[in-house]
Amino acid sequence: MATLSAQSLAKSYPVAGGDLCVLQDASLTLELGENVAIIGPSGSGKSTLLSILGTLESPTSGSYELGGVRPFSLREPELAAFRSRQIGFVFQEHHLLPQCSALENVLAPLLADGRATADDVQRAQGLLDRVGLTDRRDHRPAQLSGGERQRAAVARALIRNPTLLLADEPTGNLDRSTADSIAALMLELQRERNAMLIVVTHSQTLAARLQRRYELDGGRLAPRS
Ligand code: ADP
Ligand code: MG
Repeated sequence: MATLSAQSLAKSYPVAGGDLCVLQDASLTLELGENVAIIGPSGSGKSTLLSILGTLESPTSGSYELGGVRPFSLREPELAAFRSRQIGFVFQEHHLLPQCSALENVLAPLLADGRATADDVQRAQGLLDRVGLTDRRDHRPAQLSGGERQRAAVARALIRNPTLLLADEPTGNLDRSTADSIAALMLELQRERNAMLIVVTHSQTLAARLQRRYELDGGRLAPRS
């Protein structure tokens, strides 16, 4: 049994005059340690698919299992706990808290469970070191460059040791060389941790670095070379 198994996911949204069908038939399986890219034109449903795989949105039909759990059969508090333990997100926009330091931002996902312990702070510092932000721990997002903000977002996504890392156009706002270094960093961290990584990207260069590529077109997910 695959660690991640999505079968025939479909999603439609009710809109004036009927239903808008965004996903028709998206299936994907992934084992620990694997990474895949999803490409596709704007509006093809890439973010919608990632939201479903991230359990932020439920599918209209289809089945989804992650680590032996069917998340959409859970009730909301259990689903939120499952999501925060198992899944890390990196978006195109960093979504860091503007009033918090880099260190506090990395710790933020742990605060739902109460105060951060000394051990948590040490792990967060270790992650900041790992993403090259040792000297930036006390900087607020406005005091960081775009690449540094995205590095902090990667560290935040990993603080709970997720089995699944989801990235939605993570390098879309960055210049080419910064984008390359962030992509390399995410891949290194994913491999080190034996996590699964799914990256939505417009960048052929980034897609080419991943083990498998899929294209979303017309609501269907198809393998690409
Ligand atoms: P992509 O990330 O590939 O650009 P999205 O998944 O964001 O595409 O969106 C796919 C389509 O679904 C778009 O046409 C978008 O307008 C539509 N859509 C997304 N979310 C909603 C929603 N909550 N209600 C209605 N339509 C939506
Ligand atoms: Mg999108």
